[in-house]
Amino acid sequence: MAKVFEAADASNLMTELRMSFDAGVTRSYEWRVSQLKKLQVICDNHEPEIVSALHDDLGKPELESSVYEVALLRNSIKLALKQLKNWMAPDKAKTSLTTFPASAEIVSEPLGVVLVISAWNYPFLLSIDPVIGAISAGNAVVLKPSELAPASSSLLAKLLEQYLDPSAVRVIEGAVTETTLLLEQKWDKIFYTGSSKIGRIIMMAAAKHLTPVVLELGGKSPVVIDSDTNLKITVKRIIAGKWGCNNGQACISPDYILTTKEYAPKVIDAMKQELEAFYGKNPMESKDMSRIVNSNHFDRLSKILEEKEVSDKIVYGGQKNRDNLKIAPTIFLDVPLDSLIMSEEIFGPLLPILTLNNLEECFDVIRSRPKPLAAYLFTQNQKLKERFAMTVSAGGIVVNDIAVHLSLPTLPFGGVGESGMGSYHGKFSFDAFSHKKAVLYKSFIGDAAIRYPPYSRGKLRLLKALVNSNLVEVFKVLLGLS
Ligand code: NAD
Repeated sequence: MAKVFEAADASNLMTELRMSFDAGVTRSYEWRVSQLKKLQVICDNHEPEIVSALHDDLGKPELESSVYEVALLRNSIKLALKQLKNWMAPDKAKTSLTTFPASAEIVSEPLGVVLVISAWNYPFLLSIDPVIGAISAGNAVVLKPSELAPASSSLLAKLLEQYLDPSAVRVIEGAVTETTLLLEQKWDKIFYTGSSKIGRIIMMAAAKHLTPVVLELGGKSPVVIDSDTNLKITVKRIIAGKWGCNNGQACISPDYILTTKEYAPKVIDAMKQELEAFYGKNPMESKDMSRIVNSNHFDRLSKILEEKEVSDKIVYGGQKNRDNLKIAPTIFLDVPLDSLIMSEEIFGPLLPILTLNNLEECFDVIRSRPKPLAAYLFTQNQKLKERFAMTVSAGGIVVNDIAVHLSLPTLPFGGVGESGMGSYHGKFSFDAFSHKKAVLYKSFIGDAAIRYPPYSRGKLRLLKALVNSNLVEVFKVLLGLS
């Protein structure tokens, strides 16, 4: 039987990792590279085990596991290995007359010992991607994978233990008890991925130690469809981003569609046609869609689906089977705004379509709700694209596709407001786990008496001119001109 994780274990873990960090184990470029290369070996040599664990936990199709988890991780590692020297190099900063002569720079300093708590839906990507950032930035790190994806959690623990430096990188498996014990420790950063409900618990625990947090949360990500669009491609991309990404159990999955009353019938027809082309006449039999993660989530989705005013509005799908945890892609038309399906994040294969009089009303619906993690618009109208990007607030915005912003390391990935705080990916991951330290180097040359007492009107005038970088005034004072 596995040993129970207790308060003393959490405290010993912290002491050990803190000792490694304080001894400088994690700081060198060489150590960071060696650990990143080990993560690369994990991706290269263990892909079949990863795919199999994801199949056990979620019935995730091989393509989704190989591409959206392993290949994305490989890219992150490759980029970090290529850029690490640049990221670690201090950034030169400008100086001014007040500090002359001097030089200044911004040094990216590791924070210390950090905690990464990840979620079950993309258990490898969401665990290892932040760890890449933590290691790149020179931190010691503890990863707590989600207990709701147990095969992935134990494989992560096994592989990280086998390959990475145990003096500075550890995996602690477990659920609420273990996480609560971990949260009692004083971390230098907590990086949490999961629901906003638990996000609040994490932030409260962090506040006790003034620990900074990154909260990668979720929310209801809307999709607006304009009638001036390529409907066939629009619908294919929505289906791929919804049911083709872990069967809707993804944080940036389309949560609901907004379109006009006149255009909705066309959207529904196109969705039916493409869904059948993708998943066949009986999608419950399709091997190309994940199942629901567990019976709790199946029951949660069933409750949303079975609400009277909602189940009446099904225009496609609705089949489900608790024995194999499958729910078919299900589309609803004009469910009430106060129904469960419109009140909470769906996180599953259900997709309501809401119709309004025009697109401005669609935008208003988004603006009137908590800020989502992603917001999508399909249109060919340039003015509309710009208005959407400038006036709708969301963690990220994609025009004419779904979820693909996540694959661009040049874009920060994270939420705003209710969908989270902080961001990562590419250099943003490195920055998320670094302290940007201000460093100013001065010499003993040019020691100006005007900054020292006894103060005088002349000194005051000259200092003010210097602080304001007013060269004309500086010369006037020096030349004794009024
Ligand atoms: P989850 O149940 O796996 O929980 C996430 C983590 O929180 C787990 O490690 C779990 O052990 C821990 N946890 C659960 N209860 C806790 C408690 N009481 N105290 C301390 N820790 C606790 O995942 P979830 O919350 O169901 O994940 C789904 C949510 O995550 C959705 O809202 C989704 O949108 C969001 N999400 C966001 C992202 C992102 O990148 N922004 C990615 C994936 C999921």
